[in-house]
Amino acid sequence: MHSILPLPVQPVKPGTSTGQHFWHSTERTLDSYSPVDGQLIARVYLSTRADYDKVVDTAQEAFHQWRLLPAPKRGDIIRQMGDQFRQYKRELGTLVSYEMGKSLQEGLGEVQEMIDICDFALGLSRQLYGLTMHSERPGHRMYEQWHPLGVVGVISAFNFPVAVWSWNAMIAWVCGNVCVWKPSEKTPLTALACQQIISEVLRNNDVPEGVSCLVTGARDVGEWLSRDPRVALVSATGSTRMGRAVAANVAERLGRSLLELGGNNAIIVTEHADLDLAIPAIVFGAVGTAGQRCTTTRRLIVQENIYEDVKNRLAKAYAQIRIGNPLEESIHVGPLIDKQAVAGYKAAVDEIRRMGGTFVVEPGVLSGDAYTSGCYVKPCVVEGDNAWDIVQRETFAPILYVMKYSTLDEAIAIQNGVPQGLSSAIFTLNLREAEHFLSVAGSDCGIANVNIGTSGAEIGGAFGGEKETGGGRESGSDAWRAYMRRQTNTINYGTQLPLAQGITFDL
Ligand code: NAD
Repeated sequence: MHSILPLPVQPVKPGTSTGQHFWHSTERTLDSYSPVDGQLIARVYLSTRADYDKVVDTAQEAFHQWRLLPAPKRGDIIRQMGDQFRQYKRELGTLVSYEMGKSLQEGLGEVQEMIDICDFALGLSRQLYGLTMHSERPGHRMYEQWHPLGVVGVISAFNFPVAVWSWNAMIAWVCGNVCVWKPSEKTPLTALACQQIISEVLRNNDVPEGVSCLVTGARDVGEWLSRDPRVALVSATGSTRMGRAVAANVAERLGRSLLELGGNNAIIVTEHADLDLAIPAIVFGAVGTAGQRCTTTRRLIVQENIYEDVKNRLAKAYAQIRIGNPLEESIHVGPLIDKQAVAGYKAAVDEIRRMGGTFVVEPGVLSGDAYTSGCYVKPCVVEGDNAWDIVQRETFAPILYVMKYSTLDEAIAIQNGVPQGLSSAIFTLNLREAEHFLSVAGSDCGIANVNIGTSGAEIGGAFGGEKETGGGRESGSDAWRAYMRRQTNTINYGTQLPLAQGITFDL
């Protein structure tokens, strides 16, 4: 076990998190290795089917009490969780960086997102508004109200091991739901740390056992959640392959799913771009989190008149990138999550070479004392063709494809010409170009930015994407509605019983 973590926690077992019941009926464990140095950092008990069933039963019971607590009271409990995350930001951010491999700055940023969503949920607790409508019948009043769904299952990916859970859990809780979280099998320790950090708040507020639950395991546990009719909503973040399976399993039982899947994000750089803004945004978007963000910039579509200039500037900027231990503040790029991801990177590079791609910045796997885990790769840039299969797919690694265009409509067609639809951006100082890109004839993505990159979304907006990205929306704006059921109410306060549409029914 590594000792960098002054967290006030003992790693705990799966189950509910107020500290009373941590069930585990097997000694089988899940091992977590850090991609930073290859060390074994935790052994976590795996949930069996029996553990899982107990957890969901307990969650269901807890729902009956939790939903009765007024929303602003639930919001206040979430505020206290936010205070805990403020207190342990450094420790949790460090653990995220160490277990997942993202830079410390990004690890701390992820915890900051958790704090931000707690604040957002607190405000939301007094704003779960429904509409009122004018009834067509005299002496009648119509309105709608929103009720919680019940048990919300949260399946999360390794690359945002804590923030994605908090986007879901804080909003689900404030709406009156209870949560069962299945974190990625690649990052179980950060999940346990989160549960432990909030457990004091849950206990201090006498929150019913089962409001916040954790189950550990891989795909099989995710499938239990997807197929379980006790789970009203499954919010799943991960690959498109996983999303297809979850969508089918949840639809089979007519449950609800919220899907946040893979991206294949592009930046368009027009000849009216301010390249001093564009270049750092492109580099951060392409190499941040070692290219393992759903919003990573994977394609760069550049106007032909500035193409050579952009390529040269990119090559210069990439030469400045420092790759190494992500816990060191001066490092820009840490490792990929594991050796399987390195194999995926190498396979992509081989395919690019077979297609005849020309590298502007060469790829490579790093070796030597600083890279003992074997998970460090060089971010690379290659001149690519949007039609290549490899460009159409999401390779979860820092590979940036550069392409040329002549007219903006051509650039937009390239940008939209992939199966995914998460994030997109344009760099231009020309108002017409910017507005065209944002118009109905422009980007087909869930996120479309002007003069900022594709990654690094704020929690205040609804986050998610179209097409194979799954269509889900999480986090800010009115994304909370996905976690509630709408009920339309009509009240007759008159002395007559008029029917809608003027229908008469005389007895
Ligand atoms: P993954 O699909 O391998 O796993 C994600 C989660 O799904 C894990 O918890 C895993 O155990 C579970 N899972 C896998 N197969 C399942 C199945 N058949 N049924 C139920 N659960 C299953 O993804 P990953 O490698 O952890 O994460 C990377 C992927 O996640 C990328 O494609 C990335 O773009 C995507 N992602 C998307 C968003 C978004 O908001 N759109 C955010 C983060 C990551």
